[in-house]
Amino acid sequence: MNFSHTSFGPITVVPGESGSTFPYCTSIFINDDARVLIDPGAGPGPLEKLKAETHVDIVVNTHYHFDHIAYNYLFDDAKIFINEREGGCFRKRQVIGSLLGLSEVYGDEWVDGWVERISNPDTKPSPYSPQNNHKWWLSSARIDGTYAWGETFNFGRVTMQMIGTPGHSHGFSCPYFPDYGLVYTADMDLTDFGPWYGGSDGDIDAFIESARKIAGLDAEIFVTGHEKGIVKKGEFTEGLATFLEKIGKRDEKILARLTEGRTLDELSDMGLIYKKKFLVDDWIYMWNKIMMKKHLQRLVKHGAVLKKGERYIAAR
Ligand SMILES: [Zn+2]
Repeated sequence: MNFSHTSFGPITVVPGESGSTFPYCTSIFINDDARVLIDPGAGPGPLEKLKAETHVDIVVNTHYHFDHIAYNYLFDDAKIFINEREGGCFRKRQVIGSLLGLSEVYGDEWVDGWVERISNPDTKPSPYSPQNNHKWWLSSARIDGTYAWGETFNFGRVTMQMIGTPGHSHGFSCPYFPDYGLVYTADMDLTDFGPWYGGSDGDIDAFIESARKIAGLDAEIFVTGHEKGIVKKGEFTEGLATFLEKIGKRDEKILARLTEGRTLDELSDMGLIYKKKFLVDDWIYMWNKIMMKKHLQRLVKHGAVLKKGERYIAAR
C-alpha cells in the first residue's frame, strides 16, 4: 500500500485547512456512481475546489457537531443524511442546543438566544469556539434522510457500512469500507484536544467501548477527522491507547483536588479539563463543566468519590 497517495480506489481523503485542526476536519469524498461527501468540514479552500470540479450528490454527516457539518450549505443540491438519533438537529435547531448541553448549563431560554445569534451573519464571534458562527445556521437548515447503525450503502463500486460508535455524541457513527479495509474514525482522532465527551449526550464509558470497537474492525487504514489523517492499523491502535489513557489522567487530576469536599462549580472553575483562560468562552466553560460532571458521576459510580449533599470528596 502506498500511503503517499490520498486515494484508495474511488475513496479520496480530503485534508482540511490548518492541518485539519478544529474547527476544520478531514473530509472523505467517494467518486462512484453516486458522488458522496462525508463530513464537509475541510474548509472553504478544499471544498469549493471539489465543488468546482465535480457534482456532489450525497452529503453524509457522522454527527451534528460544527466542525463536521460546517460546509453542508455549500452543497445546496446534494441530499443530506445524518444518523437517525441526531436527525432532529436539522429539523429544529433547539435540539442541537439540548444535545450540546446549552439547555443543561444555561437553560432553554439561552438556547433560543443562541439560535437567534447564529441566524445573524453579523453576530460577533466567540473568542475560542465556533459558538456564534453563522455556518451553524446555514448548515443545519435541511435534511433529506437518516441512516441507522449497521446500515449498508452501495454507491456503485463502494460499499459503506455505518458503525454505531456513541460516546462522543449519542449518534456518532463511523463509516467503514470493508472492501477497502478503511474506516473514517472522525473524532476518535488521537489528538491532544480529545477524548471529547463534553455534550449532554456524551458518555465516557460508551466512548471507550466505541473506540475499542473501531480498533477491532478488519481494516488497515484508519482516517482520523483531525490532525493526523491517514494512519495504519498499528499506529492507530497504539495512538488510541495513549488517547484513552488521558481519561484516567483526568480522573487523577480531579481526585487530587478532592482531599476536601468541593462542589461541581468549584471544581469546574479550576480549569482542570480546559485551561482557565479558555473558560471566558461560554461554550468552553460549558464543555469543561459537563466533562467535569461526567467524570465525577463516573468516579462516584466506581466508588472512588463520595457525594455528600452538593459536595464531592475522595473516598479514601
Ligand atoms: Zn465531534
